[in-house]
Amino acid sequence: MTQPYTATTQSHNPSMLSRKFGQEIVNYFSGSPLNRVSFLRSNTAFLRAALPRSKFLLLRDLEPLAASKTTLAWVGYETVRALVGNPFNAEEEEFLREYDSRVEIPTLVFLGVNEGDEDRGEERFEFEGEGEKYAGRPCFALDVTGEGRSLKEECGKVQEEAVKGAEGREFRKVRLDLGLAPPDAAILAQARSLLDWNNRNQFCAACGARTVSINAGTKRVCPPTDKAFQKNLQDPPFERPPCISRKGIHNIAFPRTDPTVIMAIVNSIGDKILLGRQRRWPKDFYSTLAGFCEPAESVEDAVRRETWEESGVRVGRVVIHSTQPWPYPANLMMGAIGEAFPDGEGIVLKHDPELEDAQWVELGQVRSALEGNTGTPDSKAEGAVEGQLRLPPSTAIAHQLLLAVVNGFHLAKP
Ligand SMILES: [Zn+2]
Repeated sequence: MTQPYTATTQSHNPSMLSRKFGQEIVNYFSGSPLNRVSFLRSNTAFLRAALPRSKFLLLRDLEPLAASKTTLAWVGYETVRALVGNPFNAEEEEFLREYDSRVEIPTLVFLGVNEGDEDRGEERFEFEGEGEKYAGRPCFALDVTGEGRSLKEECGKVQEEAVKGAEGREFRKVRLDLGLAPPDAAILAQARSLLDWNNRNQFCAACGARTVSINAGTKRVCPPTDKAFQKNLQDPPFERPPCISRKGIHNIAFPRTDPTVIMAIVNSIGDKILLGRQRRWPKDFYSTLAGFCEPAESVEDAVRRETWEESGVRVGRVVIHSTQPWPYPANLMMGAIGEAFPDGEGIVLKHDPELEDAQWVELGQVRSALEGNTGTPDSKAEGAVEGQLRLPPSTAIAHQLLLAVVNGFHLAKP
């Protein structure tokens, strides 16, 4: 059985904010050990120097290479060199001028620098730019999915090489991966979301032509020229049809993050929590209510709207508790605690067909379930008791919100 995840608290003491609001909650999939140094993604001198000194997380069909059930596996540049070369040898402008839609480029994403990583026993990589020094192990994610791609053979070789001689290494076939150690889970979340976004955005949203990744995998552009249509080498580059995405500063598509609200709603006297069950979940499995934020909607308004639409309960005051990246595929769960109006606690399920059931549940019953009967809806928790309330695992923000309420988050401080 996997150990329950304790939402580690970020200790910034002494801190006036911690004194007022309590310790910060670090949910699973967050709190990455990497410094993303996002401003270095467009610095080709940095990327060019870093690449051969980097370590690489390989993903096949978005499944990461892992050393064990709890640890990711990394490979060095020598394993991936034949597949990736050094795409940062050219400046971005030159790289785009040479764009040829016939040539498939493996998706390579710069994740950041692990400043505390000494595990390869090598000298730390150091880079000095703009009067600042950056040191640590640079980390990349690389898509080695071979099926259906022209790079199939090269990807296959990298996959083989990566598991050779390393007992237990394998691509984890787990759709919802909640067993990794928290720092590795946070790295996987970033890698998975970015590779998935690159895969889903191969074509320009404005003109339908192929796009290409720049800024080390964190932006995509619709290149203005394509060598695939250039008849002779000495001809000027073939210009693609005009595209609105190339006008002004809009020559870019950025990775998506989809804001989602998730909320523990307490009744007006504070002794019950509103729980709901989706149709596809097992009979005893319940969770907090959740839903996507809509355009031009605050988190607080989204909490009130979603709760009313799904359960009929009307919510007044809403307080944000903590947040959680959820890389399936790219949600940011914004966890809140909300309080129902005394005359708004009636449950009505007819507005929105999402929930099959919603109920007010006593705090004591919620506490017992959190302590002894949790799991994901797909995998039955070890020791789960049929006919008893089952709730999400400690790695899910829903669990942390419920835990906060049973521990008195909503009650006045003494
Ligand atoms: Zn375009």
